[in-house]
Amino acid sequence: MADTELATQIKAALAGVEIPGGGDLATYAGLSEIIVTPGAVAFAIAVATGMEAAFGPARDEAHKLAQDLAGSRKVMVSITAEKSPAPKFGHGSAAPQGKTRVAGVKRIIAVGSGKGGVGKSTTSVNLALALAAEGLRVGVLDADLYGPSVPKLLGIEGKPAIRDDGIFTPHEAYGLKVMSIGSMLVPGQAVVWRGPMATSGLRQLLRETDWGGLDVLVIDLPPGTGDIHIALFQQTIIDGVVIVSTPQDLALIDAQKAIDMLRRMSVPVLGLIENMSYFIAPDTGHRYDIFGSGGAEKAAGTLGIDFLGPIPLVMSIRENSDAGAPPMATMPEGREATAYRAIARNVLRRIP
Ligand code: ADP
Repeated sequence: MADTELATQIKAALAGVEIPGGGDLATYAGLSEIIVTPGAVAFAIAVATGMEAAFGPARDEAHKLAQDLAGSRKVMVSITAEKSPAPKFGHGSAAPQGKTRVAGVKRIIAVGSGKGGVGKSTTSVNLALALAAEGLRVGVLDADLYGPSVPKLLGIEGKPAIRDDGIFTPHEAYGLKVMSIGSMLVPGQAVVWRGPMATSGLRQLLRETDWGGLDVLVIDLPPGTGDIHIALFQQTIIDGVVIVSTPQDLALIDAQKAIDMLRRMSVPVLGLIENMSYFIAPDTGHRYDIFGSGGAEKAAGTLGIDFLGPIPLVMSIRENSDAGAPPMATMPEGREATAYRAIARNVLRRIP
């Protein structure tokens, strides 16, 4: 069925859903656009703060009606309070009140960066593989809505399977369980999935996936600090955040902003990884500190966080990653893998 036709049909069905205070959902001003992608149907119901529970039955009914029409597509219906309560900034910082763990996942490590293009996703994937090489059961959740590259890095295509009960079965690659927000989008549609839609989409990927018992889930965050970060950190117990930066860029300055936000939201910062730290010549194997060495380590000191280690700038990291063959999996004895493994051990030492 054409996407617009399905959206119209669902909207028509929502006319039969009664909402608190009278009226129906189809004509309710708080109903968002109904987004239909090849794999998903998503819409949100904005309600006044405090009315979330009252709208629960309407949401459930809407979900059922939409699912009846959507066939194999995954339906995501979220209720969003119009003004989400601001994270408690200031002294005393917010206690992890209301934050919960994810079923089937023991620990969550999130990987962030001040800006895009610093190698955050590449680092997430190889860090996950390095953690798996330590004997842990590991998953990756690609939450980088604006540049979901994990499927490509791991050579994954298509959508995750959905069980009869609506729960996702993650992809598997190189022994990792993998979910990506990218597989729920069609190219060019990322912009539509802003704000509440993106955060509730991510919440469902995180919580409605059968992770099958993981020791660690690595979440590849979007760069910077935005709605996705705030929603995730408010709702979920994150055991630590790792920040990726390159030596020469201003991302180090942005990192300060990210770290301030994390502290205010009571999310532990595990430390800083310096990516593209030094160059290894492909012909001789010699190391060149082309950006001067120790920049990130010094910056970590200034920021008051730990330095987790450097990753070299190596052509093979880019070439293999582009081909869906991460160096940590395909060249486990290589220099790159050694660097990722050392960082993985540093990370593990810092989580309880
Ligand atoms: P981000 O997630 O921060 O946007 P990516 O992980 O997509 O960044 O990396 C950006 C580009 O840099 C990719 O082409 C990737 O292959 C390359 N890259 C990342 N880390 C390295 C590295 N250590 N050496 C060489 N190339 C790298």
